Amino acid sequence: MTVKTRFAPSPTGYLHIGGARTALFSWLYARKHGGSFVLRVEDTDQERSTQESVNAILEGMTWLGLEYDEGPFYQTRRFDRYREVIQRLLDEGKAYKCYCSKERLDALREEQQKRKEKPRYDGKCRDLTEPPSPDAPYVVRFRNPLEGQVVVDDRVHGRVAFSNTELDDLIIARTDGSPTYNLTVVVDDMDMGISHVIRGDDHLNNTPRQVNILHALGVEAPVYAHVPMILGEDGKRLSKRHGAVSVMSYRDEGYLPEAVLNYLVRLGWSHGDQEIFSLDEMIQLFDIDDLNAKASALNVSKLNWLNQQYMKAMDPAHVARHLSWHMGQLGVDPAQGPALEDIVVAQRERSHTLVEMARNSLFFYRMPESYDDKAARKNLKADTRPALEALRAALAAAPEWQRERLHETVTGVAESLDLKLGKVAQPLRVALSGGPVSPPIDETLELLGRDRSLARIDAALQFIDQQGQAAG
Ligand code: GLU
Repeated sequence: MTVKTRFAPSPTGYLHIGGARTALFSWLYARKHGGSFVLRVEDTDQERSTQESVNAILEGMTWLGLEYDEGPFYQTRRFDRYREVIQRLLDEGKAYKCYCSKERLDALREEQQKRKEKPRYDGKCRDLTEPPSPDAPYVVRFRNPLEGQVVVDDRVHGRVAFSNTELDDLIIARTDGSPTYNLTVVVDDMDMGISHVIRGDDHLNNTPRQVNILHALGVEAPVYAHVPMILGEDGKRLSKRHGAVSVMSYRDEGYLPEAVLNYLVRLGWSHGDQEIFSLDEMIQLFDIDDLNAKASALNVSKLNWLNQQYMKAMDPAHVARHLSWHMGQLGVDPAQGPALEDIVVAQRERSHTLVEMARNSLFFYRMPESYDDKAARKNLKADTRPALEALRAALAAAPEWQRERLHETVTGVAESLDLKLGKVAQPLRVALSGGPVSPPIDETLELLGRDRSLARIDAALQFIDQQGQAAG
């Protein structure tokens, strides 16, 4: 069987993290089997669908690198095809026109509720031969089998049986002729030759209806795998309360797409106790049969850990491209300072996210606006002035601006003043970076360059003098 999977989002908001995970599972499954992956935009709800949201979904897919082989297909462009299928079902007696008024259906529902029955259509128009009047408005209902059951062999939930007596004669076309959700999904899955439907388990209840319609159209139902939802860290259903859950907010918060994919694949799937998977490994090892039937919860500390692992293991040039975007967000032009690749190498042990890395690296590109209060009080004062002055002179004279040589210069100054290295290096660090934390001092000096380093020491000396005047 040729494997063909699809991701079929409704464009009524951003690309949600749960949707992205479903897309990833579908993509992995197609890649694993040398099949293809289809992107289908289910935009028939014209009141809730927006172009903005379509764009957000495409942007999210691109950022994650989940490239599709076919599509995007838009359901709103396939109305003729849906109409054709509805007509075919009518012609073959597998669907019928229902003229029941809203009032009648409301009254029916009320009665059923009073009798504590599940509300369902009573089939009044099922065997009607003539319309009540020639131009009476109607909906089209699918003629669901009255007996038997639909058995779905779900690859995640196992065998699930639905009795046909529980299923309504579903409306497949509204009074204005527009198709309804279950009909469009069925027609698309059929026409697009989808072999495996991997989707959220909120759709499990739609599945028997879709299977019945597919059978009425004379085609085999695809294989289904209904993936449980993702919960918030507190184990509750994911909602706005849990903060940003759109894929692009993960970019904004400083995660690498590769780390997000790794994080997502582990939400509901595992392979022994392995945590880190390259894309190739994911493709090789992933299987829908191994998906967990229980919902899994977000875990930000795990994501932070994973992200750092990726920042440390990946080619610095690749990480630098992502870091560059974040520097841009902070208003920094990375061309005006050290190469970002070198910054990545210098900072990746100290940062969990690219946002953190960008913030901690700002000082390489622009003079800090002010000093960290506590660090300045401790390190930029009359006592430390001689050390900074000696450093300035030694650094100005340093023959070579290179890490090891710079290390020797700084230790040389400490020795000449009979001070511990920290007593010299820490004031220098605050002078250069504005705060108490930076990469090792020699590396910081090297990256910053001679001119900037000397200028910052001068500024720190001036700051000390001003403080002294203010106090005096
Ligand atoms: N459009 C549906 C949704 O966004 C998905 C339908 C499906 O995967 O069959 O929830």
